[in-house]
Amino acid sequence: MLRQVAEGVLIHESEFCQSNAVVVQGRAGVLLIDPGIRGDEMADFADDLRELDQPVVAGFSTHPHWDHLLWHARLGTASRYGTARCAATVQDLLSDARAKDRIAADQIPPDIAKRVPLDLLGLITGLPAEAAQIPWDGPHVRIIEHQGHAPGHAALLIEERGVLVAGDMLSDVLIPMLDLDYAADPIEDYLVGLRLLESVADHVDVVIPGHGSIGGADQVHPRIDQDRAYVHGLRDPHVLSDPRVGPLAKEGWDWVAGVHARQLQHLAERGERNRTPG
Ligand SMILES: [Zn+2]
Repeated sequence: MLRQVAEGVLIHESEFCQSNAVVVQGRAGVLLIDPGIRGDEMADFADDLRELDQPVVAGFSTHPHWDHLLWHARLGTASRYGTARCAATVQDLLSDARAKDRIAADQIPPDIAKRVPLDLLGLITGLPAEAAQIPWDGPHVRIIEHQGHAPGHAALLIEERGVLVAGDMLSDVLIPMLDLDYAADPIEDYLVGLRLLESVADHVDVVIPGHGSIGGADQVHPRIDQDRAYVHGLRDPHVLSDPRVGPLAKEGWDWVAGVHARQLQHLAERGERNRTPG
C-alpha cells in the first residue's frame, strides 16, 4: 500500500479524495503525517508498517480539518502533534459534546461516513508556538506555519530529503480553499502562505499535497503560480480561469466547481457585510 516518493519518505493514497498520508522514516520508527480517512485503510496501513518493523513513533496533523485529524488504534499510542494554533482550534471544536456528530452529519460525505472512525479524532498535542521543527528522532522536519486555509496550518519541509508536505495547499486537483470561518482577511492570508512556500521552493524535489498527485521539482513553482492566480482571481472573478474548476477538471473532481461557486458567494457576502455601516 505504501509508495516511496523520496529516500525514507513514503505515502499512502486514500481512495477518498486522493488524500495522502505521509510516512517519514526515522531511527527507531516512523513519523506519520495526516494518517488517512477510512478505518479499514488505516488498519491495513498500520499492518504494513508493522510488517516492515516500523512502529509509529510520532504523528502530526497539518491542520484542524477532520480529514487530517484521524487516527486508528492499530497505529499505536505515539504522541500526535500539531501547531499550537491548530491544537487550540481542535480543542475548542471538541469542547462541544456534539462536535463529532456534527462533523459526521455535515462534513463527511454520507457514502463513507460509517467507515470513518471518529473516536480518536483530534487527540493532538500543540507544539510550543515558536517550535521550528517536529520533536522526534529522525530527519529534521521544519514547520512552516501559515494561515490561509485553516488556523495554524503547517506545511512541512524535510530538507535533507527535498520533500515539501504541503497540507491542503498546492494541489493539482483542488483549488485553494480559503479559511472563511476564522480569517479576518482570507485572501491576503492565503497569499502570505504561498509566499512562504515559495521562499523554500528551490529546496524542493517532491511536493506532496494533502489531496492530489505528487509533484516533482518542475511542479513546485507552477503549482504556487496556479494557486496564486486563482486567489487573485477571487478578487476579480470575471477573469478567473482555472483548469480545476472547468471542463478540464480531472475526472471525478467536477464537484470542485461547486466549492468554487460557494467560495465566491461567501466572499461576495463578506464584502457586502464589510460595506454595511455598523
Ligand atoms: Zn483542509
